[in-house]
Amino acid sequence: MASITIRVEPRHAGNTTCDHKVKPSGKPRDPASGCAGRTTYAVVCSEHDDVGQPHHVKVLAEPAAVDHRQEHCAAL
Ligand SMILES: [Zn+2]
Ligand SMILES: [Zn+2]
Repeated sequence: MASITIRVEPRHAGNTTCDHKVKPSGKPRDPASGCAGRTTYAVVCSEHDDVGQPHHVKVLAEPAAVDHRQEHCAAL
């Protein structure tokens, strides 16, 4: 059985991955990092890539990731 990873990935406004350190507010911790701040959170599946539309807050993306994982479990 292939192992599937589903994660919540922070994105910038331009839909690029944000792996910068940010403050709890979502603003960059280091102004010199070139980070414009996180605006969305995408659910990313190793099998399906982006799942649905990105969410504007992390608390909505996390349950969407759980839902998607359950869809995989149900499909087996
Ligand atoms: Zn960033
Ligand atoms: Zn999937």
